[in-house]
Amino acid sequence: MRLSKPLPPNSTIGILGGGQLGRMLSLAAARLGLKCHIYAPEADSPAFQVSAAHTVASYEDEAALARFAKQVDVVTYEFENVPATTAVFLDSRVPLYPGVKALAIAQDRLAEKTFLAGEGFEVAPFAAVDSLADLETALAHIGRPAILKTRRFGYDGKGQVKILEGTSPGEAFEAIGGVPAILEGFVAFEREISVIAARGMDRSVAVYDVPENVHRNHILHTSTVPAMISPETTRQAQHIGDTIVSVLDYVGVIGIEMFVTADGLVVNELAPRVHNSGHWTMDACLVSQFEQHVRAISGWAIGSPASHSDVVMTNLIGDDVNRWGDLSEEPNTAIHLYGKSEARPGRKMGHINRLTPRQS
Ligand code: AMP
Repeated sequence: MRLSKPLPPNSTIGILGGGQLGRMLSLAAARLGLKCHIYAPEADSPAFQVSAAHTVASYEDEAALARFAKQVDVVTYEFENVPATTAVFLDSRVPLYPGVKALAIAQDRLAEKTFLAGEGFEVAPFAAVDSLADLETALAHIGRPAILKTRRFGYDGKGQVKILEGTSPGEAFEAIGGVPAILEGFVAFEREISVIAARGMDRSVAVYDVPENVHRNHILHTSTVPAMISPETTRQAQHIGDTIVSVLDYVGVIGIEMFVTADGLVVNELAPRVHNSGHWTMDACLVSQFEQHVRAISGWAIGSPASHSDVVMTNLIGDDVNRWGDLSEEPNTAIHLYGKSEARPGRKMGHINRLTPRQS
């Protein structure tokens, strides 16, 4: 369904997923006088702590989904692995943004790469792999090094294996569980960047400054704004963001990961939601990515993406969160903690934004 008019304050936004992204969406919505109802299967979801209502139920529970649909005015999601049947079920009852199409593309790496290449964007060479024989054929075409990735449910480097000169294809296919996959040629990138773009229901588009992203152990470590790239590369990256949201007739915020290479930009991945590499917008922009998403899916005008400070966002992973005391003494550092009870290794517990205000 589509929203017929902008949601007035006191309306309720339904969010599928109760992690830190849902939590920060809920906080941004509250500031605009909008309520959030979080739907998640985990009873200790961090977003519950800051939201007006929540439902603990599985994404397959149609009775619970139907009740949820009756209690909210619009639905969005904070992760892209929402089952397609759940999205379609809700979409037939209540407006759902960014929508079923963007989800379908982003949850399947083969569909994603095919879409991107079809739109004329540069992507890594890729081939579908459904069997060991497919993998051997794909390796003969694409060469090594290459990366074998599951088509679905991969994040933070999970479901991926690098294939080097000596790697046995059989072992690599086994390592990802022998499930449908794609083989990607390894891109010799100079740096990684991303584009955070927003599109409103009136089709207006806002694209933020471009962060440069550094990963550690496959998890985002820092996002630095501005990225060390030329104005021309920045313009090209933002243009890619603008084009993708327009082609998808998108409503909401999207994160698009890209590689900067000597030959230009290579698009790696779409995330049809607010994105970790956009967390710096919370403190360096008038309108954060979270507020922007809430505005867009509520039918409001989207705001300016302009930034007022240079910024380095650093994720607090696992035990890093125990540094909150020292971090709180740093001037020009904003701290965001997600309220998670247990600091497991590799778990995103919070982030900080270290700002350098620009002289005007
Ligand atoms: P992804 O799950 O596709 O976002 O990949 C996670 C990380 O693995 C990326 O941020 C890159 O650092 C690296 N990576 C993924 N695909 C490639 C590729 N085709 N070539 C080189 N590095 C890659």
